[in-house]
Amino acid sequence: MPSSGRVIIRGIVQGVGFRPFVYAKARELGIRGYVKNLGSEVEVVGSGGRFDEFVDVLRRGPPLSRIDQVIVEDYDGEIAKDFLILPSEEGVLSGMIPPDIATCEECIADIDSPESRYHQYWCTSCVNCGPRYSILQVLPYDRERTSMSGFPMCLDCSREYGDHFSRRHHAQTIACQDCGPRLRLLSPDGDELPGRDPIHETAILLDEGEIIAIRGVGGFHIACTEESAPKLKDRLGRSEQPFAVMIRPEHVDRIAKVSVEERALLMGQERPIVVLEKKDPAAHAAISNLHTIGCMFPYSGLHHILFRHLRHPLLVMTSANMPGYPMITGINHAMALMRHDVDYFLTHDRVIVNRCDDSVVRDGFIIRLSRGIAPKRKAIDLGRRCILGVGPELNSNVSLYRDGFLITSPHVGNVRNPQTYAYLQETIAKLTTLLGAGYEVIAHDAHPQFLSTRYARELADAAGAELVPVQHHRAHIAATTLDPCVGIAIDGVGYGDDGTIWGGEIFAGMAPEYDRTGHLEVVPMPGGDLATRFPERMLYGILPEPEILEVLMSRGWTDIEAGVLETQVKREINLARTSSTGRVLDAAAALLGICRERTYDGEPAMKLESFSIGGRARPWELNYFAEGSGEVFSTRSLFRNALTEYLGSDRETLQDLRDIAASFQFNLARGIAGLAMHTAEDRGLHKIVLSGGVAYNRAIRETIRDEIVSSGLEFVMNPEYPLGDGCISFGQCVYAGMRRRE
Ligand SMILES: [Zn+2]
Ligand SMILES: [Zn+2]
Repeated sequence: MPSSGRVIIRGIVQGVGFRPFVYAKARELGIRGYVKNLGSEVEVVGSGGRFDEFVDVLRRGPPLSRIDQVIVEDYDGEIAKDFLILPSEEGVLSGMIPPDIATCEECIADIDSPESRYHQYWCTSCVNCGPRYSILQVLPYDRERTSMSGFPMCLDCSREYGDHFSRRHHAQTIACQDCGPRLRLLSPDGDELPGRDPIHETAILLDEGEIIAIRGVGGFHIACTEESAPKLKDRLGRSEQPFAVMIRPEHVDRIAKVSVEERALLMGQERPIVVLEKKDPAAHAAISNLHTIGCMFPYSGLHHILFRHLRHPLLVMTSANMPGYPMITGINHAMALMRHDVDYFLTHDRVIVNRCDDSVVRDGFIIRLSRGIAPKRKAIDLGRRCILGVGPELNSNVSLYRDGFLITSPHVGNVRNPQTYAYLQETIAKLTTLLGAGYEVIAHDAHPQFLSTRYARELADAAGAELVPVQHHRAHIAATTLDPCVGIAIDGVGYGDDGTIWGGEIFAGMAPEYDRTGHLEVVPMPGGDLATRFPERMLYGILPEPEILEVLMSRGWTDIEAGVLETQVKREINLARTSSTGRVLDAAAALLGICRERTYDGEPAMKLESFSIGGRARPWELNYFAEGSGEVFSTRSLFRNALTEYLGSDRETLQDLRDIAASFQFNLARGIAGLAMHTAEDRGLHKIVLSGGVAYNRAIRETIRDEIVSSGLEFVMNPEYPLGDGCISFGQCVYAGMRRRE
C-alpha cells in the first residue's frame, strides 16, 4: 500500500472548515504535504506511515461536509517537510456552492461570554458557521472572493486565523468588533441614532411597539411584536396574509404543537421557517388567521443578541419585499421603498452579494427552497450535456446540470414582474459563473407567453443551445422520480398540451414519455383570471345552477351582477377552461363563505384547510367518466353533493360547515387517488407519485396516500425539493436530460 498520494475530495467541502480539519488530522497522524482548495474541490497531497488512516479520515470529513467522491492517485512530486495549507487555485468547478449556516452553539457562547473578545459581537462566526453563499462572489470560497474582503483582519483575528488549535483556523468569515462589519440604527431620514448599542436600542424600540427593518444575512426583514402586527398589516396593506415569527426556542411549545422532527428542523444549521400547527387554531390571529403558524429560531449572531435584550417571547419577522418580489438587500433601496412603512432601520455595512429568503418547510416538505438549503446540489446522471432549467413563472427558481450534478438556485419569486425577471437573469448568470458552465440545452415551461420562456429563447439564440419545452405538470412528475410510475400532479395552473389550463392531472410512464391518462373535469373559469381572484365566479363556473346564484345573492350580489355571470357562462363569453385542483378548492371555499376574494397566492384553499380542522368527513359517491383516451373525475358531481349538504345545513352552525369542508377535501382526494389507481391497474404500474402545491394540504395528501397504500401500491413523494413550483426547474432539467439519453 502506498504511504503517499494525491487525494481529490468532491462534495460540500468548502466553507465547512475542511482545510483546517485536514491540517489538524495531518498533524495528529504525522503526515507531511499540503491541502488546498482547487476550484470547487479540495486537493490533498500527503506522505507518512499512517497515510491509509489519513485517507480514511478524509473520506469522513468534518461535521458540516458532505462528501460525494474521494479519488486517490499516485503522487511523485516533491513533498514538503511539514504539512501546509496552500493558497487556493482555480480549477474544476464541480458544482459545490456552500449555503449559509446558522451561528453555532460555540459562537453563541462566545457572544454571551464577557471574557470573550467576541462578547456581544453580532457578526461572530467560525469554520462551522456563518454566511457563505450570501457573501460569495466567485469560487474558490476564500475571504478575498467574498464581501468580507472589505474588512481586513486585525492582529488578533489574523493570529486566530493562523492558529492550528483554534476553531477559527482558516475561518474565512472571522471578524471582531475591531475589524469586522458594524451595525447602525437609522431613522427613516437616514440619521444615525446616537448613544447605546444599536441592537440593544432596537430591542427597546421593538418592545415599545415600533416597527423596524432589519438587514440580516440574505436581505431585509421587517420586525415587530405581536401587538404591533395589526399596525404592520395596515401599513403594508396585507390584511390577510400570515406572517412568520422568530421565537425563543423555549417558548415555541406554548403556542404550537412541535414534533421531534420539527424541533430538529427548527434547531438545525439551515434554520428554516417551520410551519407548525397552532395549539389553539384561533390564537395569534393577528399573526396568522390559519390553523398554522410559521416559526423560526434566531439564526444569526444579531438575532441572538436581539433576543437577549428583548422582553417579548417572539417577533413578527417578515421579508421586507412584496410577496413574489426579490429580497431587498441594500439600505438605500430599503429606505426608498420602506421609509413610510417602518419606524427605524437596523443595518450593517457587509454587502449582501446573493440575496436569500428564509426557507420554509411544512410537515417535512419544502415550501420554499432558499437560505441554508440552496444552492442545492444533487448527484444525478443526466448525460454529458450541460442543461439549464429556467423554471416556471410563479415561485420560480433555476437549475443547472453539469457533469453528474444538478444545482438548484435559491427561490427567485414571481417572474411576471420586471424586478423578479431581472433577478432571474442575474441568478442564471451567477450560477453559470460560479460553476463555469456553458449550457447546451435549455429547458423551459411550455407556456409560450411566460417571460422565462422568452428569456430561454434569447439565451438559446445567443448560445446556440437546444430548446426543450417541458409541460408544467410533467416537470412536477420528473422532479419526483426517474422510475416508471403513475404521476399525480395537483396544483394551481399550468399550460396544457391542448392550450387549456391544467392542474389536476394523472400521467403514466417515465421521463420524458408521460401520457396524460386522467384529469379532473374541465370546467369554465368565467372571466379567466377574474375567477381566480373572486372564487365565487369559479363556483358558478363549475356548478351553473340557480341555487348557486341564490347563495351569491344572499351574500350581496345584485340581480344585475348575477345575471351577467349567468349569461357569461351560458353563452360561453370570455371563459377560460381548466382542470386545476386549486380552482376547485377555491370554489369550495367560496361555497362555504370562507373566502370571497383572494388576496394572496393560495389563500382560499389554505383557508378551506384551516376551516376543515375538527370537521368530520363523510364519504360521498364518486363519479368518473371517459373523455378521449382518458378518464375524468367529475368535480361537478362533488359540488352537487356539497351544495345539497350546504342547503340542508343550518348555515349558522360552524360544525356543520366544517363537516362539509372536511368531506369535500376527503372526497376530492379519494377521487384523485381513484384516477391514479385505475391508471396503475390499466398500465400494470406499481408506483404512484404525488407532486404539486395542493399536496401541502395535509388532509388531501394523507387521504391520497392512505387510499393508495391500502390498495397495496407504492406511494412516493420527494421531500428534497418543493412540492409546489420550486421543483419545476429541477424537473425541467431531469426531463430534458432523460430525453437526451434515449
Ligand atoms: Zn461558529
Ligand atoms: Zn478582528
